[in-house]
Amino acid sequence: MIPLLAAAGLLFQASPEDLARQYRDTHRFSTLITAQNVRDLLSSDEGIRSAVEWCRKTAVTRVYVESFRDGYQAESAALRKARERLEAAGLEVSGCVTTTGVGRRSTGWNVISCYTDRTTQEKLQAIFEFVARHFDEIMIDDFWFTDCACPECGAARQAKTVTVGEKTYPVPGDTWTDYRCELMVRVSRDRVLGPAKRVNPKARLIIKYPQWYDQFHERGYEVVRQTADFDRTWVGTETRDYADKRWGGTPQYEAYFIMRWLGGLGGPKCGGGWYDPYGTTERTYVEQARQTILAGARESLLFCYGSLLKGTGPGNVEALRANLADLFAVAKEVGRREALGIAAYKPPNSDAGGERRVYDFAGMMGLPLAPCHEFPADAPAAFFPAHAVKDPDLPAKLSAFIEKGKPVLVTDGLAKLLGDRVKLDRPNVRVLEVKRDPKSLLGKPREELDALRAPLLRPFGISFRAPDRVGLYLFRGGSWVVENFNDGPAEVEVDGRALAVPPRGWICTWK
Ligand SMILES: [Zn+2]
Repeated sequence: MIPLLAAAGLLFQASPEDLARQYRDTHRFSTLITAQNVRDLLSSDEGIRSAVEWCRKTAVTRVYVESFRDGYQAESAALRKARERLEAAGLEVSGCVTTTGVGRRSTGWNVISCYTDRTTQEKLQAIFEFVARHFDEIMIDDFWFTDCACPECGAARQAKTVTVGEKTYPVPGDTWTDYRCELMVRVSRDRVLGPAKRVNPKARLIIKYPQWYDQFHERGYEVVRQTADFDRTWVGTETRDYADKRWGGTPQYEAYFIMRWLGGLGGPKCGGGWYDPYGTTERTYVEQARQTILAGARESLLFCYGSLLKGTGPGNVEALRANLADLFAVAKEVGRREALGIAAYKPPNSDAGGERRVYDFAGMMGLPLAPCHEFPADAPAAFFPAHAVKDPDLPAKLSAFIEKGKPVLVTDGLAKLLGDRVKLDRPNVRVLEVKRDPKSLLGKPREELDALRAPLLRPFGISFRAPDRVGLYLFRGGSWVVENFNDGPAEVEVDGRALAVPPRGWICTWK
């Protein structure tokens, strides 16, 4: 009987294609084919057939076909053929540009360019005019920044002017942050968005923000103006393995934090998340998928087809496929609910002040955060690290918030920056000792974590006891998710009910 039952089970299991169709309006998986892979993997009919088959098995229904990367531009004929064949197989197709190897090299990272240089600006414009002739929707991979400090950039910074072609624009300050933000905003408008839309009035451009949110502004990612200027935004949720020697150091919760934070900034413009297989195991790969979906992404871009065929890729894809039904089902539940939590205030373009990515480490302590880019005056509870001083009205706003008696967690870094401008010696205020070392927040004993969480969770009507590295996610109406990032099972208590969360597993309760 057992083989028969197993066979019956298989018959009733929805295929990835069925799942993609069933959840079409809820969540979509997509992938990207780099310019080099368009040349190497999609030039033959067999190559295209393999890519289509891979997409079907992975529930992928949209493919971003890239035209430029690392100084190489794909051939027009190859792009047209790839697009036609993929569309004929029922896949949606968009374009992509990765701005590496564009022109004059930056004095910083050698794949990045100097966009003060006029010839580089002109090359950039040609790249976007080319892609706009082939695609109506164009993603820009997260190398769309500059870290150049060449003499020409330095002189323009000191002169407080950005020059794009014949036009000169004022820069509000004389720091590298001021210069690079103004430069990237102006070059985006005059060399990317404008020219692409002149060539193809239907062109819609997507800015994909990297995962390193605390340094965006230092390299010219300006999330307020660029989110307003671009048609859509995308979010890097590639956290990889915390312990990986090359790629490590980013805790899993970061994917949730950044997806919600940029999701708040972009609103309906925010298209989805994006993660890759580098420095991951099957378990951490699936964790990236879960965090992206828990954070409300409407699309998960699996970067990239070529990389997923080698190294850790095939194992990761198998693990993802085995979890597809679960991920789609959770995406549906998340999509119909409002996420709640302890407001975690990160003003746009804010410096970390020695507390880089502290939000991610706070999330790993089981604090359910509600990331926000505006002061959370109406939040039931809030967390304020050093970043918050970017808000010039912080002392008055924070004093008023504390005055209301709501639970407040501030970092020692913020307390120091505020000095005596805000009275923090109140019973509803707790100072979190970060000591300019956010990773020191990992590994705290559960008693300490339980005591830290208790007052902050009270306004949400939920209690939570758990060891370190167990994330909690709250939704309006009493729904919650607990995810265990430990290699062993986690004994937790939610509202007094004891639960064992499997190693690297999650428990979702929807009400
Ligand atoms: Zn330069």
